[in-house]
Amino acid sequence: MAFDDRLRPLPAQAGDLDREQFRRAGHELIDWIAGYLGRRERISVLPDVEPGELIDKLPASPPAVGTDLPDLLAEFERDILPHTVHWSHPRFMAYFAAGGSTPAVLAEALSAALNNVGLLWRSSPALAELEQVTLQWLARLLCLPESWFGIIHDTASTASLHAVIAARERAAVAARGAGGSLDLNRIVIYASDQAHSSIEKVTAALGRGLDACRKIASDDRFSMRPDALRAAIAEDLSNGLAPIAVVATVGTTPSTAVDPVDEIADIAAEHALWLHVDAAYGGAASILPEQRDLFAGCDRADSYVVNPHKWLFVSMDLSVLYSAHPGCFRAAFSLTPEYLRSRAHPRVVNYMEYAIPLGRRFRALKLWYVLRALGADRIAATIREHIRIAGLLAGWIDAEPDFELLAPAPFSLVCLRFRPARLSEAEADTASERLLDDVNATGEFFLSHAVLGGRFAIRVAIGNIGTTEQDVRRLWHLLQVLARKLP
Ligand SMILES: *Cc1c(COP(=O)(O)O)cnc(C)c1O
Repeated sequence: MAFDDRLRPLPAQAGDLDREQFRRAGHELIDWIAGYLGRRERISVLPDVEPGELIDKLPASPPAVGTDLPDLLAEFERDILPHTVHWSHPRFMAYFAAGGSTPAVLAEALSAALNNVGLLWRSSPALAELEQVTLQWLARLLCLPESWFGIIHDTASTASLHAVIAARERAAVAARGAGGSLDLNRIVIYASDQAHSSIEKVTAALGRGLDACRKIASDDRFSMRPDALRAAIAEDLSNGLAPIAVVATVGTTPSTAVDPVDEIADIAAEHALWLHVDAAYGGAASILPEQRDLFAGCDRADSYVVNPHKWLFVSMDLSVLYSAHPGCFRAAFSLTPEYLRSRAHPRVVNYMEYAIPLGRRFRALKLWYVLRALGADRIAATIREHIRIAGLLAGWIDAEPDFELLAPAPFSLVCLRFRPARLSEAEADTASERLLDDVNATGEFFLSHAVLGGRFAIRVAIGNIGTTEQDVRRLWHLLQVLARKLP
């Protein structure tokens, strides 16, 4: 007998929305997004709001009855949008620009529609295999060893945690092989004093506290000093501690400094330390042949993290962890309960065996969409243009006596300070902080800061796919005009 759904009428208000309603609202939403992403000038990048304002504005209880989608979009625009920072705006230049791209928006929608959960190859062959294909492509584009195994994580913080856990696993195996054991309460890792806070969080997460991440001094260009690394390892060994890993950064967060990865790799090899390279932001630049010198030695890494959600125009979140030793990750994380056991096959990759999460989003679809829609040449040209306009800005600052550059700018981040001769060092810091606030108060741009060598640095992070020379010229004009108005 044919199924007749008149026999089982659903209650009027159970279940999903009407498909036609969805279709109409979907078209409207895409129109809205296209308008939003195209709206450059008439929007304040940074909202003028106080903490708690949105909470106070919204009802304390959830709605019992649904609202029509068109009304919901209007409500979003009226109530929620004014509280957001416009991360996808070309004049968002704070932190590291992470604005995504239009193909990424479409891929997110598609991924939500499929809603695949990548537990195993079996639960979504497309997810498992597209992840392998796109990460192989990415390795090729970025000139990384193609033998590396790649896995997508949400963020670089998570990726680095996994890298150090794999390092610990390898060290434990080595210690057992030598007839001893690794004392988990004595492990230490190394990173420069410019490394990202996520590296310290790793040792905190491993129960060793922040101090177990040794901060190695950097030089006057903010790169890790290999002699200081050697000294720290020697001291820790003499105190009976157990060094397991060193993290080198290519493109530090405060100033995009580049650690001497080749020399650090030599030291890591001498002491059998795992070398993890954090190229979360900078890693995108190795798509350009003229930037590859900055990555010398990276092919010697045991693991390497790069965030396509930063400077490769993929929307948040998508971080890639590569490793030369996938077996160490499997040793740490492979544990398959009976209900997830599947037939072994030489071509099957079950990503759950390489990381903590079981359920995984179909992020590879987003990477595939962006790479296929934009193409490598367009991506490379955009990154090259960002580096060029960052260089222009650095040149203007260098030529202007009242301003100074506080760090080399090898990528597309420029760190500057207002430093007229009439001001003392401390006064220049205060003035620069004020200048940053004044720029942000215009709403035209959003910039953030860092402290470099004890000095207050205004960071201009160029990396949005739509940022042009025009934007950088306008910013430089604004910086000069507002600086003249400082008391
Ligand atoms: C941004 C950044 C991170 C953190 O990235 P998440 O993906 O937000 O965890 C780590 N390291 C460096 C060098 C970064 O620039």
